[in-house]
Amino acid sequence: MSTNLEARAWVKVRADELRRNYTRVTEAVGAGVRVLPMVKANAYGLGVVEVVKCLEALDPWGFGVATVQEGVEIRRMGVQRPIVVCSPVPPGEIGPAVESGLELFVSSLGTLKRIEDEARAHSCVAAVHLDVDTGIGRSGFDWRTAGEWVPRISEPREHVRWVGYSTHLHSADEDEASISEQWGRLGTALADLQGRGELLVHVLNSAGIFRAPPFTTALVRPGIFLYGGEVGASNPSPDPVVSVHARVVHLREVEAGTTAGYGATYRAARSERWATLSIGYGDGLPRSLGNRGSVLLHGAFAPIIGRISMDVTVVNITDLPEVSLGDVATVLGSDGDGAITIDALAGLAGTISYEVLTGLAARLPRVWV
Ligand SMILES: *Cc1c(COP(=O)(O)O)cnc(C)c1O
Repeated sequence: MSTNLEARAWVKVRADELRRNYTRVTEAVGAGVRVLPMVKANAYGLGVVEVVKCLEALDPWGFGVATVQEGVEIRRMGVQRPIVVCSPVPPGEIGPAVESGLELFVSSLGTLKRIEDEARAHSCVAAVHLDVDTGIGRSGFDWRTAGEWVPRISEPREHVRWVGYSTHLHSADEDEASISEQWGRLGTALADLQGRGELLVHVLNSAGIFRAPPFTTALVRPGIFLYGGEVGASNPSPDPVVSVHARVVHLREVEAGTTAGYGATYRAARSERWATLSIGYGDGLPRSLGNRGSVLLHGAFAPIIGRISMDVTVVNITDLPEVSLGDVATVLGSDGDGAITIDALAGLAGTISYEVLTGLAARLPRVWV
């Protein structure tokens, strides 16, 4: 798709706003603090290649991903910076990760051994980060049993280089006290770790960066804020980066009693005018917005009527006589005085901004402006 003029629906991504949000993170943490922008899941759905190119210009310390494949893709772009896989990886992917020079989070002694074996087999030194579980319970060495694993990870290993240690906050956006609790657990767990002063400590995600400045360490791992998602009520709002648009592809004048969509869950109460938009749940528009959400047309809200289909959505434009075929509807983003933020849309759909962004389907072209 070379131009959005021909697209039935598309995602618009604003590079300037992405860079501005990144700069706001660097200003919040201060000079000297390294930044590891998280670009996992195709950079939260925006498109990892473009996001990495865009952020490369701002000289981040490295890039954070969740899978080995994501890391390899960035390496293949020619990126020389550290690329850190921040989630546990299947045993069979440790070899390829080490071979590609990806840095790995380590959550168990078994994984550490496998990494060491693979690095020896490839005659290289694997760079690793200690992941400490201080309450999120999904990965990391358990902070309560540090007496058992700290001595073991402290043993010298020819083919392993410790880069940093980290923990992941579970409630940075909603529970301030939990941040200091997790911080305390991390400190307790690692009190006996030799040489910890030389390691990069990293704890803060987007919400933590703005809510818990005292816990700013050598490195921070922002994600959602860069891409325009809110990070808690008392924290600054990011600039919107993403908008989603679709075309009006069909118009109808309907009589009272006409029904819309599967299950005929909407019935016109009077004579109405409807527009069909070329976007559906197959594009990532949450199906739960049927009969709940709205879109923007000519700067005004048009309610979604009936269930959202895989490829199309019907909206009521009875009060918007100016709408015509081919017009562009804004499903997410702003148009004139109206705005639908990612968080508002996610809230209405019963989910979070992260799921909305990562759910934007591959069939929507990403148009960078
Ligand atoms: C996704 C992720 C982040 C970024 O979190 P945001 O809430 O998007 O800022 C940071 N650290 C780890 C380990 C992650 O998996």
